[in-house]
Amino acid sequence: MNVGIIGAGFAGLSAAYELARQGHEVTVYEAAPQAGGLASGFRAPGWAWALERFYHHIFASDRTILELAETIGFQDRVFFRSPVTAQWWQGRAYPIDGANPLDAALNVLRFPATPPLDRLRFGLVVAYLKYGVRDWRPLERTTAAEWSRRWMGPRVYRAIIQPLLEGKFGPHAREVNMAWLWARFKARTFRLGYFQGGFQAFADALVEAVRAQGGRVCLGTPVVGLRPTAGGNAWELRLPDGAERFDRIVATVPPSALGRLVPDLPSGYLQRLLDLKSLGAVVLIVALDRPLTDGLYWVNLDKRDFPMLALVEHTNYIEPAHYAGDHLIYLGDYLPANHPYFDLSTEALFEVYEPALRRLNPDYSRAWVRNMWSFKARYAQPVVPVNYSEHIPPLRTPLPGLYFASMSQVYPWDRGTNFAVEIGQRVAHLLIRDIMNSPNGWSVYVPTHPQAP
Ligand SMILES: Cc1cc2nc3c(=O)[nH]c(=O)nc-3n(C[C@H](O)[C@H](O)[C@H](O)COP(=O)(O)OP(=O)(O)OC[C@H]3O[C@@H](n4cnc5c(N)ncnc54)[C@H](O)[C@@H]3O)c2cc1C
Repeated sequence: MNVGIIGAGFAGLSAAYELARQGHEVTVYEAAPQAGGLASGFRAPGWAWALERFYHHIFASDRTILELAETIGFQDRVFFRSPVTAQWWQGRAYPIDGANPLDAALNVLRFPATPPLDRLRFGLVVAYLKYGVRDWRPLERTTAAEWSRRWMGPRVYRAIIQPLLEGKFGPHAREVNMAWLWARFKARTFRLGYFQGGFQAFADALVEAVRAQGGRVCLGTPVVGLRPTAGGNAWELRLPDGAERFDRIVATVPPSALGRLVPDLPSGYLQRLLDLKSLGAVVLIVALDRPLTDGLYWVNLDKRDFPMLALVEHTNYIEPAHYAGDHLIYLGDYLPANHPYFDLSTEALFEVYEPALRRLNPDYSRAWVRNMWSFKARYAQPVVPVNYSEHIPPLRTPLPGLYFASMSQVYPWDRGTNFAVEIGQRVAHLLIRDIMNSPNGWSVYVPTHPQAP
């Protein structure tokens, strides 16, 4: 089969690699000049490694992406470390993770935002979620806010869970279901993984692996429309300067973008896509001539007190030598796609975010700043309300031959590159199965729900 894939993020590239390996002809179209999507990187003059536009690491539990690295011979370029994660509280950063579970438990017990008994209760509930819960399905029937207030207690909820939910989901914080929070505790590991050369190097290796299997990857090539051909047994994929014909299409674009690309989508299905809620991401990266914090990698900030969710000092995790000695700080936030910060210039965003640098280090001076960049994505974090499994769009769309795989279908796990690889492989396997069941015809639309992990 001749398959057209839209998007060279980790989902599109993984689908392409899997299909090409199974002997199908694939062509990947990517609007951006580079592969990697939300995990892509950029390189300033003198930098040996690319830096992600949005902060990225993987967890030791991210099996699918680690297996893919091994399959394409990239495993020697993956490494793990245990950088310090901290919570900012009343003018100080408190480490909340550790190099091992005991370390982490002690750090949680030391976090003074709640009375000691509450901390113990919090630790026990997290341990239960992480090691005791096997089936997440009952948890999706209630909100994370209700569940955690009830079982962790109102003080822990206000001090720890509420800032996390409000930081990540803003106005939707109270809608998010408990299965999402469970998955977050479950999947996180103390060791964080990264790739030599950055995530961009891994994405580039994946592009080469697709090409080595005979696939085509066309960068800087936006798809502007999709429609079934007149006979109805193929797809016409429209590009700015022409059109190409494919037997099958896999789209890995945001849900609303699929609606715009395919005018023939049945209105019920389109409405289902449009009903999905999500947030965008805004990130300012500042390059300093020296470290900002005392060895902290990730600092959770409380948005009731700061104009952003997190400060990530990347070079307290990865050596500044890879970036010509620059010390790299991300200031990041998730915001509704119509938030005014999406229209701010880098300099204007710096004016809003700079006070946080001074609060994290009172000695900070503007003279330390060597450079700055800002990156924005209007579709960055799906919102998963109660009973979300019943609302996930299936990978097979109602239009025969058109498949859809995006972050909105990653569940209950928090979206991430590992799950982008997983969903890319899943859609490829589904497409191959459909071809084997009906080689000359089209698949039948059967709504599917995600498998329990
Ligand atoms: C702030 C932030 C922090 C994150 N941190 C982490 C982390 O620490 N670890 C982690 O694993 N994950 C992290 N993620 C999530 C991770 O980046 C995503 O889950 C993953 O990259 C999604 O991959 P994807 O292929 O599904 O989508 P995308 O990466 O969005 O890829 C879709 C691609 O489609 C292209 N496209 C769209 N429309 C068209 C068109 N019309 N024609 C051609 N191409 C088109 C886009 O340009 C894009 O490249 C983070 C994301 C954000 C925003």
